[in-house]
Amino acid sequence: MDATSGKTEQEWRETLTPEQYAVLREKGTERPFTGKYVHSKQDGIYRCAACGAELFSSDTKFESGSGWPSFTEPVNRANVNLHEDRSHGMLRTEVTCKNCGSHLGHVFDDGPGPTGQRYCINSVSLELEPADHKPLR
Ligand code: FE
Repeated sequence: MDATSGKTEQEWRETLTPEQYAVLREKGTERPFTGKYVHSKQDGIYRCAACGAELFSSDTKFESGSGWPSFTEPVNRANVNLHEDRSHGMLRTEVTCKNCGSHLGHVFDDGPGPTGQRYCINSVSLELEPADHKPLR
């Protein structure tokens, strides 16, 4: 049972695609330049593909050349958790969804904006809610 989401791994397996499960729940990484949002310039909010939490805005997305969607900052820093990650012989900072604990990607200190950060996020961990699909008031 995941402490933050209340979902069991079996429930995650049933609700996510195998590719989503491998990245979100097993901290996998999609191959660079294969994700659907790498070059996306559509306006909107990128939500967690597992739980729907708001994570990143298209306003902060930039072309990093890394092969993964890249953002200078989250919509709200409180919506993500950062963790030291020493896997694969590297020291990196892992980014997870605060709401459901799912793996999103990593953040690096070589970003182009005022934050100096580059959130390097798997497309498969995200679901874009296009701006023009937002309900009108
Ligand atoms: Fe989530």
